[in-house]
Amino acid sequence: MDQLKDDTVKRLHRSLGSVLQAAIDARVEADRFPESFLLPDREEGAACPKCGGDLKKIEVSGRATYFCPRDQSRES
Ligand SMILES: [Zn+2]
Repeated sequence: MDQLKDDTVKRLHRSLGSVLQAAIDARVEADRFPESFLLPDREEGAACPKCGGDLKKIEVSGRATYFCPRDQSRES
């Protein structure tokens, strides 16, 4: 976290709250999650629910992670 800018940490905190609230509202049942969630589409090359681009798979701390390179790019 010491490499993230303060405003990035604040945005991340806000996003975590909204994602957690959406999951709670869906009673943590994946088939009730918002269509914008990647969880049901976790497969490399699956279509991003937002832009239709290919999802990519990487490993973060030993865990598989999926993301859309178009919508979730790194900040410079
Ligand atoms: Zn996308």
